Amino acid sequence: MTETFIPKSKEEALKLLNQRKCIILAGGTNLMVKRKKWSGEMADFGSDIVLIKHLKELQNIDINNKYLSIGAGCTLAELQESILLGAYFSEIILAIASQTIRNAATIGGNICNVASEGDILPLLYALDATLIIECLNGTREIAISDFIMEPGKKDLREDELLVEIRIPTNMLLSYYYKKVGTKRSNSLAKASFIGLYKLENERIEDVRMAFGAIGARVVRSREFENSLKGLNKEELQVVLKDLEKEYIKIIVPIDDKKKSTAEYRKGICLELMREFLESIYNRD
Ligand SMILES: Cc1cc2nc3c(=O)[nH]c(=O)nc-3n(C[C@H](O)[C@H](O)[C@H](O)COP(=O)(O)OP(=O)(O)OC[C@H]3O[C@@H](n4cnc5c(N)ncnc54)[C@H](O)[C@@H]3O)c2cc1C
Repeated sequence: MTETFIPKSKEEALKLLNQRKCIILAGGTNLMVKRKKWSGEMADFGSDIVLIKHLKELQNIDINNKYLSIGAGCTLAELQESILLGAYFSEIILAIASQTIRNAATIGGNICNVASEGDILPLLYALDATLIIECLNGTREIAISDFIMEPGKKDLREDELLVEIRIPTNMLLSYYYKKVGTKRSNSLAKASFIGLYKLENERIEDVRMAFGAIGARVVRSREFENSLKGLNKEELQVVLKDLEKEYIKIIVPIDDKKKSTAEYRKGICLELMREFLESIYNRD
């Protein structure tokens, strides 16, 4: 018989995680589907559950001169409405599921679900987000790209809780985002792309590109991004073909019956990248 715990504070939740094997349940939008049995029956979690979504300590959105801090328990709906976050958060979140799901689903759950389709993940990679993980004995900070090891596998011990997401305040605000799915929302992405950029005197000062939903992990290459810095429109045109050849090597989708062929999704990714890069000089 499994027990459900409703801790009064983050501290109490950490104590519980320290004392016994518990499944962390935030919004439950992933877990309830994954653990569901037959219709009308309670989901089967197989071990005790600790609820965290009500914990106020996990629900802050704040900014200081170093980073933007997002509590892991903030719902997608709260993030979408926050004036502290860039417009890209709102656009990406509105393409996730339905309002009902977004009211319950948390950003911590989106990250800790470690599904390749997690729609927030490419943006967090592009923004160089780090995660604050706590256990009873201390806190550690880890880059999101190191936290997610492969779908379903993350760098999180059973006694640990993701408490906060930090984003350096040097956020690039100009962006291009596309999610390719069967329908605009309420469907999982076949591929997604976020491009962020900053131009200075018509030359690329900074650019970030992240591809989601195509394989085990989000694809991003700082090396290729750096090779674009300083280029103007004409110079970018010259290197574009070679850049695509380099990305072809690292964008390796898997064939997936539900998502169409790997070749098709690779083609989409390159097309989205091209569209992004060709558009940036016409947008500022
Ligand atoms: C109909 C439907 C449509 C969906 N469409 C999309 C979509 O388009 N795009 C998309 O990205 N997702 C989609 N999802 C998936 C889901 O809604 C999101 O991933 C959501 O953000 C999960 O958050 P949650 O709080 O509900 O997570 P939960 O289900 O509560 O938890 C998910 C996992 O994370 C762990 N966890 C949660 N919080 C923490 C924490 N703070 N510390 C450590 N571990 C934690 C849990 O133990 C569990 O393993 C959809 C789901 C449904 C049911």
